[in-house]
Amino acid sequence: MSRPIIATINQNALQTNLSIVRNIASGSRLWAVIKANAYGHGIKRVWKSLSSTDGFAVLSIHEALLLREQGFQKPILLLEGFFHPHDLRILHRYHLTTIIHSHWQIQALKKAHLSSPLDVYLKMNCGMNRLGFQPKDVRNVWHQLKALKNVGTLTLMAHFAKAQCIYDIMKSMQRIAQSSNGFNCTMSLANSAATLWHPRTHCQWVRPGIILYGASPSGDWKDIASSGLMPVMTLNSKIIAIQKLVAGSKVGYANNYCASRAQYIGIVACGYADGYPHHAPTGTPVMVAGSMTQTVGSISMDMMAVDLTRCPQARIGSLVELWGNNVKINDVASVSGTISYELMCALSSRVPVKIT
Ligand SMILES: *Cc1c(COP(=O)(O)O)cnc(C)c1O
Repeated sequence: MSRPIIATINQNALQTNLSIVRNIASGSRLWAVIKANAYGHGIKRVWKSLSSTDGFAVLSIHEALLLREQGFQKPILLLEGFFHPHDLRILHRYHLTTIIHSHWQIQALKKAHLSSPLDVYLKMNCGMNRLGFQPKDVRNVWHQLKALKNVGTLTLMAHFAKAQCIYDIMKSMQRIAQSSNGFNCTMSLANSAATLWHPRTHCQWVRPGIILYGASPSGDWKDIASSGLMPVMTLNSKIIAIQKLVAGSKVGYANNYCASRAQYIGIVACGYADGYPHHAPTGTPVMVAGSMTQTVGSISMDMMAVDLTRCPQARIGSLVELWGNNVKINDVASVSGTISYELMCALSSRVPVKIT
């Protein structure tokens, strides 16, 4: 038998989540964001379940070409645009939509010899200060791009720094309205949080990512508990040993758990080398043989310990859910001081993946 850890990707959950998001933003078209190998789920594994999307948003040309190779023919958006003027020939050949966030990219577009124009997203910096043109420059850049023969459709795009916060959204929306005043443009603004909670940001194209995978963009599962969104990834393993502790027994590296009474613990075949967070403290939720319980002691590279006090039915071989439908990935992330996005992306390549 192989090591019992396994991740399961639920295709039905992906389809359900996409249709829920479609209903929420029913007046808009939708870029399904599948950067970072579909947030760790695997582009090859998930793209078909999401293929009723209007387009996929990815980061690298490599991811875009993978989608084209797989037969996806609808639009693909490159979220950081192109990285070198040479890339434009590939963008043209594979009909990729590019973001333009810097002046050098405009110059490259101007000089390129393309037989037909590219669809372009003009990225405005509305306060995050990562990529994009300043609000005061947007009008000028818009007209510059409009005048280029290599530019086909042009869309204004921005990304919110604090999309949970209505105040921040209102401030950003004001900046966007001021910058685009006078030209009637197609816009794409909303990530998952804005799609869920700020309908006025929906505009013509929304760009949800994390909600397609069934986690809450706020970090708190309760915020999406009534939405019908379903966790897509389940991480399971099994109990491979059981230890009986007496009061004063210590557990794991640095002995940072000390039993205060007699107690059974289970050793689970899952550690940080599988993608489970090393920072998960004693008390992180986990399900063993159908009962909710918690971790004890520090997470090792390949193993972790769980309290079996509330799982008297547990045996060697009992099923453990690290995250999934019962143990919310948002909860594991928040007690570990991280976000669900990071846990999904960190799923290790040594973990076998099953698709259901
Ligand atoms: C990652 C990303 C998204 C999706 O963000 P979520 O919070 O996962 O919905 C949308 N737009 C841009 C530009 C992104 O980089």
